Amino acid sequence: MNRKIIRSDGSVRNLRIGVVVTMTCITMILSIAGMLFLALNQHATSSEYSQMIDNDLRNRENLTKISKDLYNHEEMIFQYIISDNITWTRSTVREEAAELETELENNLDEFGKNVSGTEYEQYYRLIDLGMKEYLESVVKVMEFADSGNIQEANFYMNSCLNKYIFKINNTISDYEKLMTEDIEETRISMQHKTAQASQTTVVGIPLVVLFSIVSMLTCGKISKKLLTKDSLTCADNFECFQKICGKLVKKGHFANYTCVFCNIKDFRFYNSKFGYKTGDQVLIDLAQHIKSFLVKGEYFSRDGGDSFSLLIFSEREDQFISHMKDISLNILGRENMIEVYCGLYSIRKDDVPGDAFASCTLALSTARENTSEAFIRYEPQMFTEMDSRMDTLYLCNQGLKNGEFIVYYQPKVNIETNTLCGCEALVRWLHDGKLIPPVKFIGLLEEKGNINALDFYVFRRVCSDISEWLKKGIEPVRVSSNFSKLHLKDPHFADKIMNVINEYGIDPKYVEIELTESSAYDDFNSLAEFVKNMKEQGIFTSMDDFGTGYSSLSMLRDLDVDVIKIDKSFIDDLEKADNPNKKMIGNIVRMIHDLDREVICEGIETKEQVEFLKKINCFAAQGYLYDTPLPHDEFEKRLNDPVYHNK
Ligand code: C2E
Ligand code: CA
Ligand code: CA
Repeated sequence: MNRKIIRSDGSVRNLRIGVVVTMTCITMILSIAGMLFLALNQHATSSEYSQMIDNDLRNRENLTKISKDLYNHEEMIFQYIISDNITWTRSTVREEAAELETELENNLDEFGKNVSGTEYEQYYRLIDLGMKEYLESVVKVMEFADSGNIQEANFYMNSCLNKYIFKINNTISDYEKLMTEDIEETRISMQHKTAQASQTTVVGIPLVVLFSIVSMLTCGKISKKLLTKDSLTCADNFECFQKICGKLVKKGHFANYTCVFCNIKDFRFYNSKFGYKTGDQVLIDLAQHIKSFLVKGEYFSRDGGDSFSLLIFSEREDQFISHMKDISLNILGRENMIEVYCGLYSIRKDDVPGDAFASCTLALSTARENTSEAFIRYEPQMFTEMDSRMDTLYLCNQGLKNGEFIVYYQPKVNIETNTLCGCEALVRWLHDGKLIPPVKFIGLLEEKGNINALDFYVFRRVCSDISEWLKKGIEPVRVSSNFSKLHLKDPHFADKIMNVINEYGIDPKYVEIELTESSAYDDFNSLAEFVKNMKEQGIFTSMDDFGTGYSSLSMLRDLDVDVIKIDKSFIDDLEKADNPNKKMIGNIVRMIHDLDREVICEGIETKEQVEFLKKINCFAAQGYLYDTPLPHDEFEKRLNDPVYHNK
């Protein structure tokens, strides 16, 4: 190099080249260093971001479990209060509650470890404190229950346990809110650094490429986590939905939306009837149907199973409801109507996602229980109603112990001979001097599992009454008793029925077990097995509310029930000449006869309906035209004089 400089020919040129090369090298090294610094810096932010999301996902999962377990735990404590003071019942609940407490503590510890030494540790401490207060109160509630002070236990549960759960949930919401904000800040900072790094590209093209690869890899990894899709429907999943909600809160746009939670009515039916593949297709098609409604700025996710969540603009609520009513999907080449339940909540200023989700959940569960309306908007009194449902449940259980339930009998009539040919046992609750109809408590008891006790209580009463009538020399008719589909889960259901019949020493021919048609697909095999078992013992079975569920010819063929009860909804409005039900019932009755089954129509209120039944050869009817459900003594008069003279 030195030699080149002192030479006269071309030395200046060489010198210049040398300087340029050196300068270029220095610039390149500086640029590379700069790029490297920016890239590393950006990469560090990306890793921090990625880690944040990882941690957050883990924490949220833990916190969701804690929240859910707390509700389950409280439910157990409620069971504890209402359990009989028979040691084994309470001790079982106590053991289960203790197991859940360990799970709660483990999850909380895990959360504590994850946030230890960070600014989020304060939330752990608050939840930990809330949990201690909650568990101390649980001990008190149990003490009250053990000492027989049920009212006090109930009151303490409603006031203290609820309060601590509320406190814990609020802390969880606060954590989620702060975390969402922090994640958003880190994301913005990462974006900023990425932009900076990208601008410094003139010399460091190879590095830019390298940098881009690193960025792409990192960002790809992040976006995968961020925008996790539901693999079946390709919709966002709930994690993603939550994050979107968080962002909207941050931007101050959350209150522009209505949050909606949806479920498909009887979704299990599609899986059990058509197979899981078809069930999956239903979900995919429904996701498409929902998506087709959305406009820019609206969101939806599939949350597993048949649950979907949406954020729609509040002013489009009505439009949304019409869009979701009467959905027709092509299933295996045929058009099928899909029905959905929806809970809607119009988000208010200052709401965080947790508020919206809790209110939507409540609205959705109200929609599920509501028989007339499947789209329910949240109303504040729903929380009070939930409380009052808990009270009703408590009183119902007390009522069962105190024998407050009574059995009415509604006659079934042979319309050809105008004579009594059977009856249905229908329960009523005599509480505080008022007669409460079953619609007010059956659903609640079914939901909480105590229906089994009620059904057997009624059935025992029925068998006892039959036995009394026989002893008095009164010939009873066959009495049908309603049993909830939940009994089918009990492998000893049939044995239990036989035990009661044997206990009262009555002939099984006087007994009929009514099961609703909609129960059929929940577990067809156990239903078929039960019906077969009953037949072997000489006990009649009937399929109630036929036509309201998902009956099919094959089900009628495969299920050996003795009686089909056609639902009242088919009989209503028969006087209208163009009512298509007329043809349908005619054909159904013929088909039932062909299959050697008995058929009866429920809800007969007019003479015209009776005339129509005669025309289609259906000769059994039950309804107000003949009798409403009657108290025991009134019904006994019918047994003594079984002819309906002026009908
Ligand atoms: P269900 O089994 O379909 O019983 C028939 C219901 O229709 C009865 O209402 C009866 O009073 C009513 N009904 C009968 N004829 C007519 C009519 O001509 N017009 C009208 N509008 N209604 C008529 P109820 O007694 O209020 O019972 C309602 C439901 O509660 C029953 O419907 C049944 O699903 C349930 N239920 C009643 N007792 C029991 C029970 O012991 N166990 C279980 N699991 N469910 C029960
Ligand atoms: Ca019935
Ligand atoms: Ca019925």
